Amino acid sequence: MTKIAHQLRNIGKSPTLQINEASLKREEEGKSVYKFGFGQSPFPIPDKVVSELKNYAHEKSYLPVEGLHKLREAIANSYNNEDVSVSPDNVLIGPGSKELMFILQMVLDCTAIIPSPSWVSYEPQSIILKQNYSFLDTSYNSSWKISPAQLEKKCRERKGLKLLILNYPSNPTGISYSSSELEAIANICRKNNTLILSDEIYSRLHHKNNHKSISKYFPEGTIITSGLSKWCGAGGWRLGIMIMPNNLKSVQNSITKVSSETFSCVSSPIQYAAIAAYHNDDIINDYLLHSRRILSCIGNYCYQALSNAEARVCEPEGGFYLFPDFSNYNDNLKSKNINNSEQLCKKLLKDAGVALLPGSAFGRPSNEFTARLAYVNFNGSEALRVSKGLVDKDQLNIDDLGDVVAPLKSGMSSLVNWLKLI
Ligand code: PLP
Repeated sequence: MTKIAHQLRNIGKSPTLQINEASLKREEEGKSVYKFGFGQSPFPIPDKVVSELKNYAHEKSYLPVEGLHKLREAIANSYNNEDVSVSPDNVLIGPGSKELMFILQMVLDCTAIIPSPSWVSYEPQSIILKQNYSFLDTSYNSSWKISPAQLEKKCRERKGLKLLILNYPSNPTGISYSSSELEAIANICRKNNTLILSDEIYSRLHHKNNHKSISKYFPEGTIITSGLSKWCGAGGWRLGIMIMPNNLKSVQNSITKVSSETFSCVSSPIQYAAIAAYHNDDIINDYLLHSRRILSCIGNYCYQALSNAEARVCEPEGGFYLFPDFSNYNDNLKSKNINNSEQLCKKLLKDAGVALLPGSAFGRPSNEFTARLAYVNFNGSEALRVSKGLVDKDQLNIDDLGDVVAPLKSGMSSLVNWLKLI
């Protein structure tokens, strides 16, 4: 009936929504749910950014399709502190980076190369657009990272232009890439007619504040995306950014044309408020410092708990996810008639009240016992308050966070006890 019914047939109901619905149902039944499923920032939007939104609520005019010039300028300046040379003309503002990535895939005639596991929306976007795409498999043993040799092989197999979609710090694995790894990947892309879409939406949440953009090593072929959703706690504000290199002006123009015929521009008050978010002053730097150290502390606590329970899991480096592989429990799980990651997550929710997302939602084989755990089920405002009161400490200890993390700790215990009993 619809024009894209055929493509949509291959896209299931979002696993995030499914787990949310199952969690809600459980709560309605009066049962507790430890919500490690949904990946939303726990932190409030900084007050000064919210005040700016109030100040500019009267702004009612359409803005330029590419975005408000002052905002593009603030974003360009914030990148110039990070080894990447960006001018305001390189910056595009969209209603979420998701939309900008979709339009990028729409205007490029290419094969998308998507590491597996990867964020849930890249593949459906390729499917909707009838874009050729191919997964690059990784494993726990490779720390869920792609290798240069594997990438080179894939690039050579595919004719024409390619687009490597690289996301780090990663959703769902929490890992990042070192400078030398990025340089090696960049060199392969440059030699093999491959552009890079570098999804850096978690860059400001690199736990050691040590994010490097791959654009440094391949400036002419790297398109960066980011936005307010994760580091600024403003997913619902729907403001994403794309940074295009100078030599891809024709691609940039095509994106602008599609934007002009679809969303027109991002809401004006939101764009004015975002200027304050991208001014790297003491308020924002302080907010980020505390966000990072809280996430690092909680991420490491969950990592230790899972490792002690013999799950195979990588130490988190950024963002707020872990991607445990429960294959050490293969036999026990199968003996309980749990044969794939979806059944694993359903049973875990039913028995232990723990909501995780199955690895299959992130492009992993269904029979692999992997899942994504988002360690965001704590009160972000309270955590910031506690952390700001402990400025003299180099690092936070999980006990410093006291009651703020009590439900999270109970959730981890519930998960670990379930594994022990299975
Ligand atoms: N990329 C990754 C890896 C994400 O996790 C998300 C959001 O969950 C997005 C992109 C989309 O972000 P936005 O809110 O800017 O559309």
